[in-house]
Amino acid sequence: MNEEIWRAVVECDPAYDGKFYYGVLTTGIFCKPSCKSRTPKREHVRIFATLDEAQRTGLRPCKRCQPHKTGWQSADEELTQRAEQLISECYTEPLTLREMAARLFISPYYLLRCFRRLRDCSPGQYLIRKRLEAARELLRGTSLSVAQVAHQVGFRNSAHFSHVFHQEMKQTPTEFRRSTKEE
Ligand SMILES: [Zn+2]
Repeated sequence: MNEEIWRAVVECDPAYDGKFYYGVLTTGIFCKPSCKSRTPKREHVRIFATLDEAQRTGLRPCKRCQPHKTGWQSADEELTQRAEQLISECYTEPLTLREMAARLFISPYYLLRCFRRLRDCSPGQYLIRKRLEAARELLRGTSLSVAQVAHQVGFRNSAHFSHVFHQEMKQTPTEFRRSTKEE
């Protein structure tokens, strides 16, 4: 084990997560570099380049840092970011959960569960938020009618748009526009 790796273990350096895992022979457990558990004796530590390698030795994943879940978490985070990007780029289209999931090549259920867990809202709620953001910009900066604004940001009818807008902003689109003009 080189000094750089040992230093990462001692300092619980998260920059090394995913680059290696370390097992502690006396406890039979393996950890991510960032794990805050007590620093083991150096002579008891073994370094593994991959998760697979660590698991094959029969060591158990640490309950605290859950090194075996790292890969999953980052894959889910990546997926969630791809979903956010898709929504940011395509919010004017009639996106449904099913449609988003299809474009991301995953199941609607998985997308929903993953997004909820990592962002505390559903992709649908995030979509609405994006649309309302864009709508506020248009109401503030253009003279488009409310119906035109609704249509441009992806709502199929303006009554539904006004309803959602009011729910979120506690103002109708027209009231919102008036209030920004008065500022
Ligand atoms: Zn650990």
